Amino acid sequence: MNAREEYRYNRLTWAELDEAIALQKVVILPTGSTEQHGRHLPLDVDLFLAESVCLEVGRRAPDRVLVLPPIAYGLNMHHIDFPGTIHIEPEVFIAFCLNITKSVAYHGFEKILLVNGHGSNAPLVDLVARKTVLATQSLCFACGYFAFATEAFAKVKETEVMAHADEFETSLYLHLAPERVQMDKAAEDNDRMGKYASSDSTSRYARFNDYWGRWTKLGVHGDPTKATAAKGKVILEAAVSGLVDFVDEIKAWPIEKRSDQHRGPVQSQVRW
Ligand SMILES: [Zn+2]
Repeated sequence: MNAREEYRYNRLTWAELDEAIALQKVVILPTGSTEQHGRHLPLDVDLFLAESVCLEVGRRAPDRVLVLPPIAYGLNMHHIDFPGTIHIEPEVFIAFCLNITKSVAYHGFEKILLVNGHGSNAPLVDLVARKTVLATQSLCFACGYFAFATEAFAKVKETEVMAHADEFETSLYLHLAPERVQMDKAAEDNDRMGKYASSDSTSRYARFNDYWGRWTKLGVHGDPTKATAAKGKVILEAAVSGLVDFVDEIKAWPIEKRSDQHRGPVQSQVRW
């Protein structure tokens, strides 16, 4: 297996990594979580779905992509009332991921992409990408895999809420590993909706996420009973083809020279 064919970062030797750097592959870091997902799904949903999507992107674009081992944990204290959930403080998550992206940049990779599968990690991966751009000479982008599938999913979905252990996530899991989904235990639940706020930050006016132990006994937000493997296939296809397209955009994105508009000298030794 050489660097052009292997898409899994840590399956390469250091000498092959040197080839991958020369190819300027886009390095993908999947981010998930270990967190309750209702009575019908295992705790690995966000990790398994995000990593599965990324590995399929790698299979379809092995000459342009390297997929790092995923981040298995995220910001989850709001789910802590449900057994098994693991929480990582946001500052720790950001620092840990930033150490990874900086290492990748250090070796000479110029393009990095974080593909997130856990909603509560979204503001954190955004900051990781921005901090990487500011601290290195590489470009780093962050996205959620679900963003590339929402349009296709809208054509097949039967329910409106897209949130957690819902029709969307359950469908994709059913497509990828039906033997691990306990559909007989799937049940619908919804968050508390006010005029301007909702307890699972689904309002377009305000960000607010309450302890889930305050508003759900199931740990579900949405309707998993409408999930099917066929819908999951639609989601996977859309997410993967969208991300392959995005990888090509990232690969072609120029790293331009910064132009400094100061008249006098700047204090370039200042560090923030
Ligand atoms: Zn999830």
